[in-house]
Amino acid sequence: DYKTATKNFWHPMSPSKQDPSQETLIVVSGEGNYVTDADGNRLLDGVGGLWNVNVGHNRAEVKDAIKAQLDQLAYYQSFDGVAHPRVYDLADRLVGMLAQEDAHRVLFGSNGSDAVETALKLSRQYWIAAGEPGRVRFLSLRNSYHGMHIGGTSVGGNAVYHYNHGPLLPGVELLDSPFLYRNPWNTEDPAELTDHLIRQLEERIEFLGGQTIAAFIAEPVQGAGGVIVPPEDYWPRVREVLDRHGILMISDEVVTGFGRTGNMLGSRGWGVKPDIMAFAKGISAGYIPLAATVFNRRVADAIENGPGFSNVIMHGYTYSGHPTAAAAALAVLDIVERDDLPGNAGLVGAVLQDELQALESHRYVGETRGKGLMAAIDLVADKGTRESVDPSSGIAHRIAAAAREEGVVVRPAGTKIILSPPLTLEADEAREMVRALDAALSRVD
Ligand code: PMP
Repeated sequence: DYKTATKNFWHPMSPSKQDPSQETLIVVSGEGNYVTDADGNRLLDGVGGLWNVNVGHNRAEVKDAIKAQLDQLAYYQSFDGVAHPRVYDLADRLVGMLAQEDAHRVLFGSNGSDAVETALKLSRQYWIAAGEPGRVRFLSLRNSYHGMHIGGTSVGGNAVYHYNHGPLLPGVELLDSPFLYRNPWNTEDPAELTDHLIRQLEERIEFLGGQTIAAFIAEPVQGAGGVIVPPEDYWPRVREVLDRHGILMISDEVVTGFGRTGNMLGSRGWGVKPDIMAFAKGISAGYIPLAATVFNRRVADAIENGPGFSNVIMHGYTYSGHPTAAAAALAVLDIVERDDLPGNAGLVGAVLQDELQALESHRYVGETRGKGLMAAIDLVADKGTRESVDPSSGIAHRIAAAAREEGVVVRPAGTKIILSPPLTLEADEAREMVRALDAALSRVD
């Protein structure tokens, strides 16, 4: 019995001895926006795997592309002097899709942590090539999540991922995140919040010296940190400050890339153009892992023309540009563009966000928030002070378990419930997600 028997697989993010009251959901198959568990229950997939099954499960077009590639060539390297057609096809496709961002070159990897690590290393190389090797620091935001490698862990703004893994990378400066519901100034006015955050950014740059900072890395909408949607003028004003100091902007689009927020990129929702973009998850929608770090002409030109050894990128993985993963990504991007999944995420997302508001009448729901098809339910012990529930109380898990009994998979994340369904979600399914959550919350009220 997969659910209860002791197994050698150790769940990430869980203690060595799993809570026996917490039953493991064993998923055995998927079709469209639904999965089926080991007991044969068909469940609406409110989490899209882990923010990534954006085109839904079991898509024939993607499977066919994978099979065709497997029949031709499962794997070959794409290092110095060796490549295969798919790696060029996918790089061209990405640069074409990201023309607005002045995208110019692509480096591949296997997952979001790779994409972030590549972005961080690339930003340092940029400054070495550009003749300012003293620019080594990174600015990032509290609550942020940038993957599990040591660079991404170090720039990540959630201390729970720092425990047991130090010492971390030096030279990381955390700034407050654009979080209206909880911020150090206790302001509820978005314009005022942005003013505070921009002042903090400027002061920190002044104090450290802009000439010591390589890049600012952030998610356009923080995901794992609780789906934090910045005020309208936040990103344009951040970009303006960074430009004044020459600091590169790295956009971690691992969750937000390819449609989730209702725009093709998260950053497009604010009309800003990052210098370096990290993609994974939705790029191949879980069919075969793949990551891409895409950078603009400014970065590419400086490195290409860099002196000495600085024009060689000594960074790549065995699976950088894996042919079968690239074939899967090309098929996924075909669906994303043909079916306008960013547009669908915007429309169905508006229904979802609107319906979720009604849940705020429940005892533990402090706020629901999100953009497109990413949303969070913020669980509070006290609606007045907005103090979070005790994460060890297991309340998020109890809500998720009850939602599952109502036929919907949602993700418990400590003091939040996270939603990130496939971007193929239909409006009725969005309403069904909220109905199940309403019933689940009623049980714990
Ligand atoms: N960046 C962001 C914003 C993420 O949400 C994640 C994963 N949740 C990562 C990076 C890391 O991706 P992966 O787990 O594929 O390494």
